[in-house]
Amino acid sequence: MRGNRKTDTRPEIALRSALHRRGLRFRKNVRPEPDINCRVDIVFRGQRLAVFVDGCFWHSCPMHGTRPKTNAAYWTPKIARNVERDRMNDALLTRRGWRVLRVWEHEAATLAANRVEAELKYLSQARCTGRSSTADLQA
Ligand SMILES: [Zn+2]
Repeated sequence: MRGNRKTDTRPEIALRSALHRRGLRFRKNVRPEPDINCRVDIVFRGQRLAVFVDGCFWHSCPMHGTRPKTNAAYWTPKIARNVERDRMNDALLTRRGWRVLRVWEHEAATLAANRVEAELKYLSQARCTGRSSTADLQA
């Protein structure tokens, strides 16, 4: 039931080495919550940031996730289920206080690493000032 998420795909490796070059440390291909059956490609435990590298085909990228014409009856529901599972995992992890970041395999590793870095910076700051709720912001 792992679906079609392969580990160590080329875009994943590219992003991981880009992050390494910036001195960022993370765990790869782990389940951040033992009771949630969801492996995350790149996990920053301290900041509670979960990064997925999504394949354009399997996860229905708006740019390249074209529906296959052959065997559409087979692929279409399969891919729809993947996307549905993605959203479900996003919701489950978010509920546990994780920030979920999804990167498309077509994104350049440098740009994807920029997004991850910006997110980490944001999360570290949010933690220092005490994660403020919307009510706090309005006060
Ligand atoms: Zn794409």
